[in-house]
Amino acid sequence: MDDFSISEIKTVLDPPIIINFVDEINCPICDIEIDVKNKIVDNGSFVYCEDCNHKIIFEITKI
Ligand SMILES: [Zn+2]
Repeated sequence: MDDFSISEIKTVLDPPIIINFVDEINCPICDIEIDVKNKIVDNGSFVYCEDCNHKIIFEITKI
């Protein structure tokens, strides 16, 4: 099992972007909600799940 997951964000904006379209994402391992509201993310930015410490990396795709 991978020790990280990729969370893809599709946007028309240039990174870094502010996450204002969702309040939280769910950990793919333990399903706990991770607060990402208004977080500034760039390609490769990441968050850790507070519960299981799983790493979630943001991949920004420009559309
Ligand atoms: Zn977790």
